[in-house]
Amino acid sequence: MPTSTGPSATPSDVVVVGGGIVGLAVAWRAADAGLAVTVLDPSPGDGATRAAAGMLAAVSEADFGERDLARLNLASAARWPAFAVDLAAATGRDVPLLRAGSLAVAYDADDLALLRRVLALHREWGLASAEVSVADARRREPYLGPRLAGAARVEGDLAVDPRGTHAALLEALTRAPGGTVVRRAAVRLERDAAGRVVAAHDAAGVRHAAGAVVLAAGAVPPAGLLDGVPEVRVPVRPVKGVTLRLDAGPGLALEHVVRGTVQGRPVYLVPRGPGTGAGPGSGPGHREIVVGATSEERPDDRRAEAGGVFALLRDARALVPGIDEAALVDVTPRARPATPDNLPLVGATAVPGLLAAVGHGRNGVLLAPLTADAVLAALTGTPPPDDALDTLTAADPRRFAPATPEGALP
Ligand SMILES: Cc1cc2nc3c(=O)[nH]c(=O)nc-3n(C[C@H](O)[C@H](O)[C@H](O)COP(=O)(O)OP(=O)(O)OC[C@H]3O[C@@H](n4cnc5c(N)ncnc54)[C@H](O)[C@@H]3O)c2cc1C
Repeated sequence: MPTSTGPSATPSDVVVVGGGIVGLAVAWRAADAGLAVTVLDPSPGDGATRAAAGMLAAVSEADFGERDLARLNLASAARWPAFAVDLAAATGRDVPLLRAGSLAVAYDADDLALLRRVLALHREWGLASAEVSVADARRREPYLGPRLAGAARVEGDLAVDPRGTHAALLEALTRAPGGTVVRRAAVRLERDAAGRVVAAHDAAGVRHAAGAVVLAAGAVPPAGLLDGVPEVRVPVRPVKGVTLRLDAGPGLALEHVVRGTVQGRPVYLVPRGPGTGAGPGSGPGHREIVVGATSEERPDDRRAEAGGVFALLRDARALVPGIDEAALVDVTPRARPATPDNLPLVGATAVPGLLAAVGHGRNGVLLAPLTADAVLAALTGTPPPDDALDTLTAADPRRFAPATPEGALP
């Protein structure tokens, strides 16, 4: 086993590799519970978290073939209000939730047929969504465009500002007595003679001894980091997406998350504010609208292709024509950390001392509070949260043991 020859940092109870919204949620909850926690990340918050629109849309996201994911999403959505209150109390920063719900709209008859299939699935799963007339949808949201074939409302969906939440988490963690953030990458793990992971080494050669290491490094498993743990398989792949931030000024007061399909292409608009000051170019009293998102099976090259941006704006404008007057102030490409079964890896791995909180795909902001609770339970040896016990089994990282490769077809 590789051992340290470089300098050593003060030992922690937990080292978290990756300071995106998932890693920081885990780190903050652990520090808040009295553990000494070190987060290693060269640029906290600059992964998928930076692009995320912030929909906490457990019902709207419930889709065919994703029953377990829907259950995880619901369990985490139920935690968000208390999570936001606790985070605000820990920092003095407001963490506002948009509680108006989502309107799902269909642009043409084929889009409406698709919407009705999804609504039927929601009924089967006992989820609260309901078709409404276009006139009713327009009464609720006067900014909807003139040409729509149908609509539904989903009252339980929430939304949050992921960048603001991440900034609050960073502050909460560094304010906590045992919380430390080291702005360097983890490059390798160290195991003891019994095979337990006992330390992470950073890019400057510093050894960070810990009772446990939590892998929360997002879309691309860091090269070399997992070389020493061949028993652990982390089949996370990047799925690139782009979101746009519009400064809607004080006028375009969209109240709901508007999600829809326009001739089969999904698009959403997530409003924020006024007065959050979020987003470059937003003045006091201005509202921000996040438009998203593209989705491509490839890594994040930090390029936003003009065609993708054009298509998002064209489709968003078909649903809410008023965005014509808004300023385009931010274009953010990043990669979602996707897994073969669309479920995250949360909890203990096959190697003692190594836990995972990774692979949250398109729902990492939504799933952050549940992930934090589950990982904290695993760290402290307490039972996982009751309400999510069965559901969390589906997210067990050990389902991807190297002995059972899911790629090979007979
Ligand atoms: C376009 C788009 C829109 C989205 N919209 C939503 C949404 O509306 N709602 C929702 O719930 N989710 C959404 N998501 C998904 C969500 O953004 C992700 O699931 C979530 O951000 C994952 O968080 P994370 O902390 O796991 O990863 P990340 O945010 O990617 O953070 C990983 C961190 O690990 C660090 N890191 C990498 N390698 C190392 C290393 N070797 N050592 C130390 N640190 C390392 C990186 O610097 C990074 O900060 C969206 C994603 C995209 C791309």
